[in-house]
Amino acid sequence: MRCERCDQGERRTVKRAKLAERDGRVAVVLDVPMEECPACAERWLAWDVAKRLDALLNEMLSGDIEVATRHYSATDVPAA
Ligand SMILES: [Zn+2]
Repeated sequence: MRCERCDQGERRTVKRAKLAERDGRVAVVLDVPMEECPACAERWLAWDVAKRLDALLNEMLSGDIEVATRHYSATDVPAA
């Protein structure tokens, strides 16, 4: 699919880390599947992925661990 932001690249599926920070705690979710434009680096998350990621980051940030990391694929997400 053509990137609608820059119209220079084809969106491709990639896996990237997403990081969130709150109250001195850091949560990192690795290998989050998303689409990315190689030309302008714009990224798109599918709605269900974004929702799941939000829930994960919230859960991790409310825990006791200062720096929490997790693999997106290691969580109990139903296969898309
Ligand atoms: Zn683009």
